[in-house]
Amino acid sequence: MGGAILVLSGPSGAGKSTIIESASGKIGDYYFSISTTTREPREGERDGVDYHFVSKEEFKEDIKAGAFLEYAIVHGNYYGTSLNPIKEALKSGKLVIFDIDIQGHRLVRAKIGDIVTSVFITPPTLSELERRLYSRSTDKKSIIENRIKNAKEEIKAISEFDFVIINDEIERASNEFATISNASRLKLSKHELEKLILNWENS
Ligand code: ADP
Ligand code: 5GP
Repeated sequence: MGGAILVLSGPSGAGKSTIIESASGKIGDYYFSISTTTREPREGERDGVDYHFVSKEEFKEDIKAGAFLEYAIVHGNYYGTSLNPIKEALKSGKLVIFDIDIQGHRLVRAKIGDIVTSVFITPPTLSELERRLYSRSTDKKSIIENRIKNAKEEIKAISEFDFVIINDEIERASNEFATISNASRLKLSKHELEKLILNWENS
């Protein structure tokens, strides 16, 4: 049995990291895809844990080498999902969780959509998003303003996702995320479905 992919998208500050952390004990064995980025690390972020932080030159080399399943420019920086660790995790039947933007979601769906489940996470309102971005106090005002501007575009892609979580109360949002994660494991690829039918008919 192969693995499955759960794509998590939503505006920066929506609570994606908080929800994954809070739900991590409720979703069994999974592999969280650590993205590569050219953005500067925030205070407290660790290389190889939160992201692989690289220079633009290194990122472009990786693009040339075909190292990414997908990559995109988000808020002016490069972000990408490395292919090799994903392949390994899928081979061992794991659920692979991606925290990627709406462009990344489109690219992953186009490439391997048959094993993808996706969920869009948003705070209840734009003003609550703004409040959270300021109270997280990890980014400068100009960066926050840019993220809010992008959020108004990102929300327009909400209908492209299988599920939506309104992250108002963290406990409820985290339980909803755990339910979706566990259901996403049951999604089978076309190949697996064909195998299932063959076995079903011949045994
Ligand atoms: P993202 O990973 O989507 O960028 P974070 O998980 O960093 O977002 O959350 C942004 C900020 O909002 C953090 O300071 C976090 O503690 C806070 N936050 C997350 N979920 C909630 C919630 N349900 N209610 C209030 N604050 C929240
Ligand atoms: P942040 O800088 O706040 O950590 O992330 C900014 C945005 O980049 C978020 O929307 C996040 O989901 C997205 N992102 C993080 N990693 C990737 C990735 O590998 N690919 C794509 N396409 N987007 C990513």
